Amino acid sequence: MQPPVAPASPRKRVVLLGATGSIGENTLRVIAAHPDKLELVGIAARSNWEKLAAIAQEFRVPHIGVFEDTAYAAARRTPEAFPAGAQLYGGLSGLVELAQLPEADTVLVAVVGTTGLHPALAALGAGKDLALASKEILVLAGKFVLAAARQNGVRLLPVDSEHNAVFQCIEGHPHAALSRVTLTASGGAFRDWPLERLTQVKTADALKHPNWEMGPKITVDSATLANKGLELIEAQCLFGLRPEQCHAVLHPQSIVHCLVEFADGAMLAQLCPPSMTFPIQHALLYPRRVQGVEAPLDLNRLFSLDFRPVEEARFPMLKLARQVMATGGSSPAIFNAANEIAVAAFLAERIPFLAIHQLVDKTLQTLPPREPSSLDEVLAIDATARRVAAELLPAVC
Ligand code: NDP
Ligand code: MG
Repeated sequence: MQPPVAPASPRKRVVLLGATGSIGENTLRVIAAHPDKLELVGIAARSNWEKLAAIAQEFRVPHIGVFEDTAYAAARRTPEAFPAGAQLYGGLSGLVELAQLPEADTVLVAVVGTTGLHPALAALGAGKDLALASKEILVLAGKFVLAAARQNGVRLLPVDSEHNAVFQCIEGHPHAALSRVTLTASGGAFRDWPLERLTQVKTADALKHPNWEMGPKITVDSATLANKGLELIEAQCLFGLRPEQCHAVLHPQSIVHCLVEFADGAMLAQLCPPSMTFPIQHALLYPRRVQGVEAPLDLNRLFSLDFRPVEEARFPMLKLARQVMATGGSSPAIFNAANEIAVAAFLAERIPFLAIHQLVDKTLQTLPPREPSSLDEVLAIDATARRVAAELLPAVC
């Protein structure tokens, strides 16, 4: 007699916010590689509804969100572009609705900036696991996001490669045994430029990342190392660390993603090639491990792993982020908001590269830190910081 066939484990149903971006594309590669384990039930983007329609057709996605009003209206006028019966959602309330879809298990938030905060909180409130790529959300309102995950008994799975790596290294270890977490940084586009040339940086130079293919905002953040600063704050929040336990080291190959040191001096590291498909798959299929989308490291080929300290003079944004982390309260939110304004102005070629740091520094000096006690207060601080940074822009041009 044949043994009974074990029922297939149900597919994880995923909502992907930011489906048209760099994380979005890598997530689609992971989902396409595991059609028996993952199913895409909702997608959203800001304005690129044509690309959303193509994704919806390819993956037969029934729920589609378009944030921007005019793009949403255009999508509604073109129902034939979407799968038959597909439902369209508009605006922030549309993203929130998608994040709460009854048929979803996991919501992956990969919307650039902090727009994904309310959808992320809504997903947690609706009992969904949250896979989080948007680090800005944790820098802005980490304590509220973590509290929502705890209250609802759901998982918060880091997608950012370094944090996903730390998550893997600390699993099974008591928190008290953790002494230091070191995140690696590639050093971005200017790691080897002579310092005096940094005054001549063009936007196109900052968009050439040596190791990673990413969206424009995070690529500029990698060139200033604001990205690593945001990530130290993200690590502090996610793993309950003190500022002095969070470190960064330059590692040009981007193969080691973190080094976690324990009380006995032993260090665990996580290694994989520099592709976001690794952490995305880990977060989406957690706790299962199955074959990945890409080949693992080939240890039969010669490669080296180099580490060097971060030069503070080259990367003042990292120094500023460390100060902000030590100050706490509203400072990380102000740092993040001013940085978003500064990077947008740099990408629009309105301010020079070195003015990014000047603008963030000036905004922090203008707004004294305080301890926000509610989410509304955090959002008010964020709005004020954006307004003040925009007002200070002419002073750094
Ligand atoms: P991209 O710029 O490549 O993509 C951004 C995505 O967000 C697009 O799908 C965009 O839609 C969407 N989006 C932007 N604003 C809104 C909005 N208001 N409502 C709905 N959707 C919106 O960014 P990345 O993929 O590089 O980064 C996304 C997030 O992931 C960032 O927070 C980043 O820090 C983080 N991250 C990224 C990594 C990477 O490798 N790229 C690594 C680690 C973290 P549209 O196309 O219509 O504009
Ligand atoms: Mg990262």
